[in-house]
Amino acid sequence: MNNNAEERVYLPETDPVILLVEDNKLNQKAAIFLLEEMGLNAQLATNGKEAVEAVSKDKFSLILMDCHMPEMDGFEATVAIRKLEELAGNYTPIIAVTALAMAGDRERCIAAGMDDYIAKPIDKSILHVKINHWLRSDVVYENHKLRRKLLRPHANVMLLQGAPLNVAELNEFYGQERTSQLLSLFVGNTEEMLKQLHMFMSKKQARLVAGCAHELKASCASIGAKQLGRLALFLEQAIGQDDWLEAEETLASIERCFLIMKDFIRSSAPLKGTPA
Ligand code: MN
Repeated sequence: MNNNAEERVYLPETDPVILLVEDNKLNQKAAIFLLEEMGLNAQLATNGKEAVEAVSKDKFSLILMDCHMPEMDGFEATVAIRKLEELAGNYTPIIAVTALAMAGDRERCIAAGMDDYIAKPIDKSILHVKINHWLRSDVVYENHKLRRKLLRPHANVMLLQGAPLNVAELNEFYGQERTSQLLSLFVGNTEEMLKQLHMFMSKKQARLVAGCAHELKASCASIGAKQLGRLALFLEQAIGQDDWLEAEETLASIERCFLIMKDFIRSSAPLKGTPA
């Protein structure tokens, strides 16, 4: 199976649906007229709370978000929507539509998780350009990737938390001799799997990478290597989402974690047949 993300063709969405989030009745009408003129379907949410509800039920191509609204404002709504999406693994571009005109407003919108900004009253040609830009799935994909890269907690932080393995527990369970054999086998197998992973990754063989990551996860589970096992799961998930950039980074974290583990294993239980 040759699943090459680099060669993916992005088609414009057919029948995109815009979620318009706006509390002011006149502004609602005006924006809907503009969207209709562009041949776009709009669904209305009259405050942030309704917007979050709508996103939890339906998929939208784009969200136009007013900032000041009763109940829940546009900033809070955006934060809530981004949290929902993180769990679901999807991403909708959000354009702030606001009369806020102070310096730093754009930054505030971006910090809340919005992608772009349009000033009120809406200029028809600017709206047109922005909507066409954000309806392109390649633009959304790149922006999502960039955002995840900037916002994701560094994988190294996770690696430094606690011992990578509970050798005492393994000794108690299997006995020292067998534990030593098991760990030696684990190190050898994992080294082999990492070689394969690199090869499959370089050829963008999604199914083989996922299969290998799955196996690594399973062998980690049998010796209680939780951190490495979790990274293997992340790799499997990244491949499932066809996110090769994320997969590359996760594989690098797996390598680092495995090096730490090997040092740890060598220092706590000298391996059978492995040179010190
Ligand atoms: Mn408003």
